[in-house]
Amino acid sequence: MSLSDLLGQDRPVAVLRRLLATRKVPPGLLFHGPEGVGKRTAAYAFAKALNCLSGKPDACPDPVPGSPAPCASCAAADRRMDPDLELVDGAYQGALREEDAAKQKTLRIDTVRHVVRKLETRSLEGRWKAAVLDDAHRLTEDGANAMLKALEEPPARTVWVLVTHRPSELLATVRSRCQPLSFAALPQEAVASILERRGLPAVDAARVLGECSGSVSRALALAADPGADPAAWPGDPLAPFTLAESLPRELHLARPRAEALLERAAGWLRRERGTAGFASAPVRFVLRDLKGLRGALRRNADPRLVVELAVLRLQELAAVERSPA
Ligand SMILES: [Zn+2]
Repeated sequence: MSLSDLLGQDRPVAVLRRLLATRKVPPGLLFHGPEGVGKRTAAYAFAKALNCLSGKPDACPDPVPGSPAPCASCAAADRRMDPDLELVDGAYQGALREEDAAKQKTLRIDTVRHVVRKLETRSLEGRWKAAVLDDAHRLTEDGANAMLKALEEPPARTVWVLVTHRPSELLATVRSRCQPLSFAALPQEAVASILERRGLPAVDAARVLGECSGSVSRALALAADPGADPAAWPGDPLAPFTLAESLPRELHLARPRAEALLERAAGWLRRERGTAGFASAPVRFVLRDLKGLRGALRRNADPRLVVELAVLRLQELAAVERSPA
């Protein structure tokens, strides 16, 4: 993936191209914005572009039949074999610690120290060294502190790209040493094109586009839940429990799924509001409750409990609104 392959993020991409063209790259960048809008992809494409041999302010584009193959540097990065480019996430830490990737809830100091050492080793022929830190809000405090020195006295031609949808949870000292770059929710056409690229059937894409709030990951989570149709919930007394039970066991998978369910419920309510379905005022109350539940989810409430409460709330509303007067 190159920056030019990235859809719907023209503004941050323009900033990154300028950094690449001038080679005035700050030692720390902070990519922030909603989940599932391309921050991590952009970070990796940018890091790749720093060492691309094409001479352009971008990485080599995704190969299509008939086009030239990517340069040796980009090809190595695409295979995750570039010794100068670290993609630091749960899988990376899991491999270091010889543990399950799903178990890596935080980014630990040992991992940060490992990356710092990697960035300090001299690279060949003036190549850049880059570390992309995904979900940087999961850095522990001592992990973040271990990174501070690297940000303050960076070896030449090194860059840390921190990626997060929760920038406020990063240590202020780390935040203040990084140049921020914001990514917005994607326009619907961009989400549609990306879903098509990923091979999602058009009928599924059409079903979730309006409810995904410009996030590809949320669209995919919604599409994976064909049974989650809020219109069916009021008539199914067991829905709160079956839906809660259907969430994955792993917290980091359960949370986006729960968030997608809340989003879907809210979307359905908004469509029903004012129609023959429900009156406006009570719907507004329930929408406010759903918003509160989404906040609770972000503050680490149990996704199962959140889903259960949300569906119960929808059922109460339907019971009142649809009972014969
Ligand atoms: Zn290249």
